[in-house]
Amino acid sequence: MNLILMGLPGAGKGTQAEKINDKYNIPHISTGDMFRLAIKEGTDLGKQAKEYMDQGALVPDEVTIGIVKERLSKSDCKNGFLLDGFPRTIAQAEALQELLKELDTSIDYVIHVDVPEEKLVERLTGRRICPTCGATYHVIYNPPKVEGICDKDGSQLIQRDDDTAETVKNRLSVNMEQAKPLLDFYQNKGYLVTVNGDQEINQVFQDIQSRIDK
Ligand SMILES: [Zn+2]
Repeated sequence: MNLILMGLPGAGKGTQAEKINDKYNIPHISTGDMFRLAIKEGTDLGKQAKEYMDQGALVPDEVTIGIVKERLSKSDCKNGFLLDGFPRTIAQAEALQELLKELDTSIDYVIHVDVPEEKLVERLTGRRICPTCGATYHVIYNPPKVEGICDKDGSQLIQRDDDTAETVKNRLSVNMEQAKPLLDFYQNKGYLVTVNGDQEINQVFQDIQSRIDK
């Protein structure tokens, strides 16, 4: 089964990706992992990508798509794959269509984990991190035993600058603008499956299964 996972930051994509990976035995392929692997393996495309990244530049689409092709051609993808973080643009989505055709396959579903914006703000701004051990908490969903204190080592928990309300709202609106055309693109192709991500983790996963097991 060939899947693409979409969702805004805080929607719980990572958690669902793990569950999909366990249940369907298809590799979870995130853009970052894909680049790291190509660079580690020292492929031509990996070397090119590294040059751009070292300069702090955006990796051009043709390099990114080449790396996606290398990754999807590996033997662990023969039962399918779960793409996460790619495609990001319509140009990439169109290139992916072509590439899958070359590999004699196609997308089965694009799973959109949908959570209302105000819930995402609540989720993201409630994150607290221990500067000592890196443990993460949430003031509502996963609070420490003593407010503001790490359970493991008693350190004072901190909020990352990235997680303040203003930064979170900005990040979400940038991501929403980017995602909207892609969601439309996949909706028009008939691949899009939208699940309510504002539910308990296992319920979200059950909803995903019931939609893709048909
Ligand atoms: Zn700690």
